[in-house]
Amino acid sequence: MEADEFRQRGREMVDYIADYLENINQRRPFPEVSPGYLKHLIPDEAPSSGESWDSVKADIERVIMPGVTHWHSPHFHAYYPTGNSYPAILGDMLSDAIGCIGFSWASSPACTELEVSVMDWLGKMLQLPKEFLFSEEGKGGGIIQGTASEATLVALLSARTTIINKQRAENPNMTQGQIIDKLVAYTSEQSHSSVERAALIGMVTIRTLPTDDKGSLVGDTLQAAISTDIEKGLIPFFLCATVGTTSLCSFDKISELGPICNKYGVWMHVDAAYAGSACICPEFRYLLDGVEHSMSFNFNPHKWLMVNFDCSAMWVKDRTLVSGAFEMDPLYLKHEHQGQIMPDYRHWQIPLGRRFRSLKVWFVLRMFGISGLQQQIRKDVLLAKQFGQLVADDSRFEIVGEVTLGLVCFRLKGPNSANETLNKKINDDRRIHLVPSKVKDTYFLRFAVCARGTQMSDVTFAWSVIREITDKMALIPTG
Ligand code: PLP
Repeated sequence: MEADEFRQRGREMVDYIADYLENINQRRPFPEVSPGYLKHLIPDEAPSSGESWDSVKADIERVIMPGVTHWHSPHFHAYYPTGNSYPAILGDMLSDAIGCIGFSWASSPACTELEVSVMDWLGKMLQLPKEFLFSEEGKGGGIIQGTASEATLVALLSARTTIINKQRAENPNMTQGQIIDKLVAYTSEQSHSSVERAALIGMVTIRTLPTDDKGSLVGDTLQAAISTDIEKGLIPFFLCATVGTTSLCSFDKISELGPICNKYGVWMHVDAAYAGSACICPEFRYLLDGVEHSMSFNFNPHKWLMVNFDCSAMWVKDRTLVSGAFEMDPLYLKHEHQGQIMPDYRHWQIPLGRRFRSLKVWFVLRMFGISGLQQQIRKDVLLAKQFGQLVADDSRFEIVGEVTLGLVCFRLKGPNSANETLNKKINDDRRIHLVPSKVKDTYFLRFAVCARGTQMSDVTFAWSVIREITDKMALIPTG
């Protein structure tokens, strides 16, 4: 395909994308295929000579769409949202066209410099403490990681190197292995599984601490765990606290946890993957009170800030502690401006290569403006509250936890088994899609407001489907 054909096919593809997103509510949110469906629709081997675009394009509806879960359908209420907007798609198109691998400033200066600027913009939108922003005096700064999981892993490995260096300075006879054996990380039983995975990769012990009745990790619990571990001769070094947990959207008490971490030299990382976006609204900013005590923080603009996957914004108070953990400097990657005012992001992440992700963030921030993004968050929260009211008004149901942002956890009063049946019937029905979760042995359903275009009519539609299925369940004789 040469430029002339690309111009034409590109326009067609833009039309296809716009049609897909405009009419997505006509597609069932969850596909009806079984595992292995696609293998039978395409040949076993790649074509020996090139095909026409028309034959490729025909296969989008024949091969791909039957197996797509439509995350941007207004009837999709599973997991948490993932961002999608036309400015972000345009940003990704340009990023793909430029196609640079921005591992260092020299490898594509605009890629690094725009990221530095948009990370400061985002940090200011969240009213992050100044120490997290880039400045000539301070040591802080932000980076776009691919996912929250990577941000947590980078934070844990940075904390691990920091504590190893400190311990070795104090106890030169201890080997790195002996120190690692004594390290203890903490998180709550409600945190995302990526935190435990980070500890697995970092080969450190992790304790998943119990939460209170609201699903929050509180200071006393952490204090008790740290004291017990110190008594055993272990070395507490890392806490991953969550603002907006995955199952319940509960909030760890970071303003209690932070001072405890600082007292014991424990690196507090705050994961606000979903809820962080809401903190651009002044009325939700209180959720981040205490973030000033953390060493690192992340949230996912690719969840709730209209930016397409992948984009997890991460800030650190001391970037030298991150680059200190990851720095590798072969001659072929060096450049003459290294170590000057601009970072070489390759030292802040696991992979070497990195895409020009800041373009899509820049386009989104400029085209929606802060007020446009706040409007979207407020609309989604309002819709969740309205759904919560519909649930509360039906005496067969109860709300689990609190509806603070765009997630409503709810269940039929009574045994878990009835809720398991309800969940299965809703998803088998396929008009809407949601996923369940379980906290302290209570099984419940999660209703997340996900797609950008979700309206009140979609919320009432979802509730009518749930009620209809519940009504039918009541007619089925039990035992
Ligand atoms: N942390 C929290 C609180 C989450 O809710 C999620 C996913 O929903 C993650 C981390 C994982 O996000 P990612 O896919 O960006 O690694």
